[in-house]
Amino acid sequence: MSNLIVQKYGGTSVANGERIMHVAKTIAKTHAEGNRVVVVVSAQGHTTDRLIEKARGISSDANRRELDMLLVTGEQQSAALMAIALQTLGLSAVSLNAAQAGIEATSVHGNAQIKKIQTKRLQAELDNGNIVIVAGFQGINRYGDMTTLGRGASDTTAVALAAVLGASLCEIYTDVDGIYTADPRIVPNAKKLDAITYDDMLELASSGAGVLHNRAVEMAKRYSVNLVLRSSMSGTPGTLIKEDIGVERLSVSGLAIDRNVARVSVTGLPDKPGVAYSIFNPLAKEKLIVDVILLSVGKNETRDYCFTVHKQDLKTACDVLMKHQERIGFESLSTDENLAKLTIVGAGMANNAGVAASMFEALFESGVNIETISTSEIKITVLIDERHIAKAAKAVHDKFEDMLSEDYTETEES
Ligand code: ADP
Ligand code: ASP
Ligand code: MG
Repeated sequence: MSNLIVQKYGGTSVANGERIMHVAKTIAKTHAEGNRVVVVVSAQGHTTDRLIEKARGISSDANRRELDMLLVTGEQQSAALMAIALQTLGLSAVSLNAAQAGIEATSVHGNAQIKKIQTKRLQAELDNGNIVIVAGFQGINRYGDMTTLGRGASDTTAVALAAVLGASLCEIYTDVDGIYTADPRIVPNAKKLDAITYDDMLELASSGAGVLHNRAVEMAKRYSVNLVLRSSMSGTPGTLIKEDIGVERLSVSGLAIDRNVARVSVTGLPDKPGVAYSIFNPLAKEKLIVDVILLSVGKNETRDYCFTVHKQDLKTACDVLMKHQERIGFESLSTDENLAKLTIVGAGMANNAGVAASMFEALFESGVNIETISTSEIKITVLIDERHIAKAAKAVHDKFEDMLSEDYTETEES
């Protein structure tokens, strides 16, 4: 049987009729080369943001189910438009939403996870000679309701389809020509990588590098999906994401910037077992993702807790904590939305004592104050004032320039 290729096109790549026609020709070419093709599309341009704004214009606290009902329309439009474009080129194409494509997901509106894909309809459409266009970013829960899979999650739809359909390749087409050592729009001298390991990419994506959705990378690793990220405009080869890239990168492999952070501080807590549990358990029950956590000594032997959440979760996090204030026992709660997170990632970091010091030196030299630090074996994260993020990213990137360039060390043959 012929090869199956999954191609995903992001918002910029399908932003208007002209771009859709351009992309349709790329799809047609892949099909003409004898491949079966499944295409995943995102909403056009900034459609998802606009839809969120529309809902906010009516309510600051829109019901999450209804918000998902609204957001899925963006991808559905793109899918139908792409099918129309392919049909004008004389090809057989059909668009499917998540319900039609059998994408079953959990019920967490706004951040659902794909549980299973029933491929019967997809297979039947492919067997009928159709190019199948699937609306990305959406799933259907066990009640038959539409859910969305998190911002940027059309990537995950594509990888999940590639895994379940046994595709030979999953191509993520976007508005940059590959994965760089940092966001090239913020750090202009960032270097394009020919290849990156699933592990390094997963850390970068989880730390805020929006170029790929983190669950897409996780799933690609789990199911050994051949993944490539490339430009929908230029014909350049892009970046391969795979298990082993044959060379070992030195200490730092990349840098990620995340502006989607807000900090919550609760102060005046008792110093006794169970306090952290009483704060974070109700947040976990609301499925809120909590990141950098800091515990410090406050006034009169009390304890203060600081942690970060995604900006869109800030209100819910505060509401949950205020509801439980008496039981948790904190005196005051404050928030800060003017922060950004800068993370350096690299598997080689664990064996290199100087990496953290070099990062702090770069920040010191550029006059950037560090608000919070958190480290693990493979990454170092700092929270800083959002206004300084570009300056800080450039300074840190410059500091590690030598390591981030083509300065690889060949892996020893074993
Ligand atoms: P799409 O709509 O195609 O999914 P995204 O905006 O989600 O596109 O992702 C592409 C963007 O990711 C780029 O325009 C770039 O600004 C940003 N980006 C962040 N980190 C990186 C990185 N390390 N390498 C390349 N691009 C990055
Ligand atoms: N349209 C969705 C978003 O903007 C999903 C995606 O583009 O991947 O987040
Ligand atoms: Mg994206």
